[in-house]
Amino acid sequence: MLESAQGVIKKTAKDLGLSSSATERLLQPEALHEFHFSVIMDDGKPRLFTGYRVQHNSALGPYKGGIRFHPGVSREEVQALATLMSIKCAVAALPYGGGKGGVVLDPKTVSEAELERISKAYVRAIANVIGPEIDVPAPDVNTNPKIMRWMVTEYLRLKSVQTSPRLDRGQLQSVQSKKTDLNRFQPVPTDSNLLATFTGKPLDIGGTLGRTEATGRGGVMILKSLVQRLAVRDQRSGTDRQSPVAYKTVAVQGFGNVGYFFAELAAKEGFQVIAVSDSKGAIVGNDMEKNKSLDAKLVVECKAEKGSLSGCYCMDGVCDIKKGRTLTNDELLELPVDILVPAALENVINKENMQSIKAKVIVEMANGPVTEEAYEYLTKKGVIIVPDVLANSGGVTVSYLEWYQNMKGEKWSEEKVNTKLQEMMDGAFDAIWDKSVKKNMNLKQAAFEVAIERILKKMVYYMS
Ligand code: NAD
Repeated sequence: MLESAQGVIKKTAKDLGLSSSATERLLQPEALHEFHFSVIMDDGKPRLFTGYRVQHNSALGPYKGGIRFHPGVSREEVQALATLMSIKCAVAALPYGGGKGGVVLDPKTVSEAELERISKAYVRAIANVIGPEIDVPAPDVNTNPKIMRWMVTEYLRLKSVQTSPRLDRGQLQSVQSKKTDLNRFQPVPTDSNLLATFTGKPLDIGGTLGRTEATGRGGVMILKSLVQRLAVRDQRSGTDRQSPVAYKTVAVQGFGNVGYFFAELAAKEGFQVIAVSDSKGAIVGNDMEKNKSLDAKLVVECKAEKGSLSGCYCMDGVCDIKKGRTLTNDELLELPVDILVPAALENVINKENMQSIKAKVIVEMANGPVTEEAYEYLTKKGVIIVPDVLANSGGVTVSYLEWYQNMKGEKWSEEKVNTKLQEMMDGAFDAIWDKSVKKNMNLKQAAFEVAIERILKKMVYYMS
């Protein structure tokens, strides 16, 4: 993964004619924190955990990136993800650099109380290298707003202990002499700037409206812009794909946070979502020709009731077993749809199946769902692939809006958040599209060029 992220940067740096020192500067992280911390588990025994926070590049602003809890977390993986965050934030024109964090942990193997203690211990380990204007973590794989609440509360507590007269020495001694768990001291968070140290928080402690849907919503905004541009392009070139109708049917792989909202909002925007999948399999509706979409909301309710997607062919307000059929996840990827949206895992479109992909457009909502080899093969064949650094940047964009509101002490309506998101996604798309047209390059190359140019503008001394 690190090799692949660095490979694209090296190629872009070469195309841009960068010096080896500038290229090296873009490849290496500014700081790589690898640490170990102990947590008392429920059985009263300490257990040692390994954690990371990688701070890749801060030319554009504070490092920004999630914290994942996963048994497969490694230094290389976190470094690769931090590198890609630098690119993604620059693509989205955010005043942020890239960072990422992680703990080697399978959260399913620990209790809720242990998870809380691990989250707080992780924060204590990184507290001195994060802050609203230094490094702003967020949720990632297996972390969520609840974990952000624990983390930000612990961070505020530490800052109170370090700086606030609210916890004077007497109070501190009294807390300590009673052997009270310091974790249970909850300061009143008056400083919304400090709340801005984390994003993806629950609403009552500085979270923003619109964050849950943001990644899917941003992806649909990008898809709409793309389809409009493709319609104009196709019309000019006189191909038979003469209108946005040529880009209408959609299959979505993954029905979690990203895939669900993508499917729901795409249908609202007039796309025809005919197939969705989760880890257990896929479903496709029979009504492709009748211009009908699966109703994502009903599909979710049906899945909750039945325990699987199978049979959940929900359209027009009803779920009817006769209206569709089940598929494997591999078959979903090979459906003859206009638009394919991998929104689950990485590397799902690869050399094994690239020749069977029939979609005209692929929107990379997951991180890295199309391998380098498949990306090259498919773009040569004329498939338009919206790269992850653009397609799923709606999430980090609304994280930025959360940070911005905290820094200014504001609370925006959902409508205001969505309007701002639309503006920012339009800006991001236009810059990448224009670059790809101007330099006749694919969208991924264009995205990396735009991002690296923006980063380098703030690092001018490396340009020689
Ligand atoms: P999630 O855990 O909410 O959902 C993942 C979905 O994928 C689930 O429906 C799961 O059943 C499904 N899935 C798992 N294995 C599958 C398989 N083999 N085939 C088909 N489906 C499978 O995760 P999410 O937050 O929706 O994230 C999905 C992807 O988007 C990840 O790659 C993530 O890194 C990326 N992403 C998420 C965000 C965000 O804001 N959540 C932002 C940027 C990128």
